[in-house]
Order: sequence, then C-alpha cells, then structure tokens
Amino acid sequence: MLHRLHHPVPTRVLLFLPYPLPANMAVFDRSLDFDDESVILECFRFFDENNKQYLDEEDLNRMISSLLNQHCGDSSRALIQDLFAKFDRNADDKIDVHEFKNLWNNWIKPLTKPTTALLIIDVQNDFINGSLALKHCPAKQDGKEVVQVINELIDQTKFDAVVYSLDCHPEDHISFFENVKHYKLSEGNEKNIENLKVFDTVSFIGPPKMEQKLWPRHCVSKTWGAQLHSDLKVLEDAVLVYKGTNPKVDSYSAFYDNKKLSQTKLHEELKLKKVTHVFVCGLAYDYCVSYTALDALDLGYATVIVEDATRGTDENMIEDMKRKLKSKLCVMASSSQLENLIKAKDIKIEFAEVLAKS
Ligand SMILES: [Zn+2]
Repeated sequence: MLHRLHHPVPTRVLLFLPYPLPANMAVFDRSLDFDDESVILECFRFFDENNKQYLDEEDLNRMISSLLNQHCGDSSRALIQDLFAKFDRNADDKIDVHEFKNLWNNWIKPLTKPTTALLIIDVQNDFINGSLALKHCPAKQDGKEVVQVINELIDQTKFDAVVYSLDCHPEDHISFFENVKHYKLSEGNEKNIENLKVFDTVSFIGPPKMEQKLWPRHCVSKTWGAQLHSDLKVLEDAVLVYKGTNPKVDSYSAFYDNKKLSQTKLHEELKLKKVTHVFVCGLAYDYCVSYTALDALDLGYATVIVEDATRGTDENMIEDMKRKLKSKLCVMASSSQLENLIKAKDIKIEFAEVLAKS
C-alpha cells in the first residue's frame, strides 16, 4: 500500500479516505456542508500527518490521491508544485490552516462540487442544411446528428447553466468568400485574387492584420440560416451568446473574436453563476467548439468536450485540434460519462490541474 492510515478514521468519514479505496466507495460524502468550518478543519487534521499544524508535499500527495481516487505519479508532483505556487501565500513550503481554507474553497470545493455549464455551440441551420452544411465538408459528417444527443443531455443532466452560442454575421462580413474583394488583401493574395476559391486561407492587411479562411456566406443575421435548428430544445432560462457580429473580424470562439479585440458576454455570465466546469458541444468540432474550449481553459474553467455531441469539418483538423486541446488539459468525454463528471464521482486530474493553475 502506498500510504498507511495513521489517524483514526474521522467520525464523519467518507469525507476523505486514503488511496487505494475499496471498490465502489465514494470519496466524498456530498451531504456534508462544505462551508462548515469544522468540516474543513477535520479534513486539514486528517491529512496533517503527525499533527504538525501544516501540510507538506507528502500530505498534499496523499490528499490528491484520495481526491482523485488514484495514484498520479509524476502528474501529482507537478500538481503539488502548482498548489504550493497558488496557495502557499507566504512561500514557506507549508500549507498552514489559513492557506488550507483558501485551498479548500478554491480548489477542493469546486473539484468536488462543480458548478457546471453546458455550452451548445452554433447548432444553426446553415451548418446543418444550409450554405455551410458540414455534410458537404471534407469529413462529410452530419451536423443534424448532434441535435438529439444534446436534447437528451439537456433533459437528463442537471447543468447549473445552459448556454447557446450563435454565429451571427452582417452581410458584409470579412469571412465570406463573396466579400473578399471588399477588404484589403496581402500583396500575394491581391495578385492572385481571381484564382481564390472558397475555403482558401488568405491574409488581410487589416487592421487588424490576420489570416482568414474564406467561408461561403453563412449565418447572416435575421435569416433562416442563422436560426438554431428547429428540433433543438431551447430552454427558457438559457443564455444566448451572439458572435461574429463585427464585420471586420471573424469569431470562432464563443468567448472572444479571433483577434481578441472584444469579448462576448459569455465569461461574465459564467462568472455571475460561479461556473467552474464547462461542457462544450455543437458545431463544428475543429473550429468553434475547439476554439471555445481553448479559451475556456485559458480562462481557468475545467473543460470537457462532449465528443458524441459534436461534429466537424475535416478529420485531420479534428485530430490536430484534439492534440492541442489535450495538451492544454481538455478532457474528451462522451455524453454517457457526464453524470459521473458532474457529480464529481469521477474527478479528472486535468480538472485538478486547471483549477490549480487558474
Ligand atoms: Zn461564421
């Protein structure tokens, strides 16, 4: 056994137990009041071996193993460093009880009692049956297939917030192939303008200067193509986020435009609701879904892509984006795994790392 239990098991156990746990045993008793000071102190004392009045690296290592219900090896060491960097305020290599309360509130609590948002990205007519239908893209995936999976998710899973993003462009939007002549291209592109095709990537001299893939005209504001698919359930209290409204810059992410000139209301809305974990689904995997997830990770949200509730345009692009997302600590899951993630029966080390860094 990795660690022996030196303390008697606290009376209100199931709060923490040492690794390895007996099969099927819950790590946490979620009926405990996580704001109760005595619960916090009990946890501190439980991991404070030899009653030193502080936690050291080994104590944190044991705590992480209990929390994640696994021995994490080297990842655990990196995580411990991040936890010390964030919570050891006076940098004395000890987590004292005051520092532990901060760690509890900003790391243990969100990990074990996540506040969750489902981010449904761009499930709009143009991406399903319209001018930019995914089924006509190289991967030939059918965007319609996400609708039922998302509807079931909404029905069966209790998210604290549900957000729908909508790509919403003015007629003169820079991303439309049809508009390429209206914006200043780099010299090379300008010379070659007659040979440009839909889906080519060009560079505009701006401002802002930027690379841009040329899409067919899509999701023009107030048109059928910009509407959410009629079979998609839209909750009354949901948050709607419109993106791509500035004609001069495209916006793949539901948080920011591609040049980060401005941000949507999404981050503010999620902060207002104290969201800690986001679950991203919708269209298209290799563009708006991935860019939204990358920004979510940068903003400090534990982030999951619900893979069976998303479809993409290009297999190679999807694989590239997955690699990038995983390197940034994104979790890929299927909708059937969400219940365990939301209830923190399955706490991913990626979540622990993202929340320790943020
Ligand atoms: Zn667009």
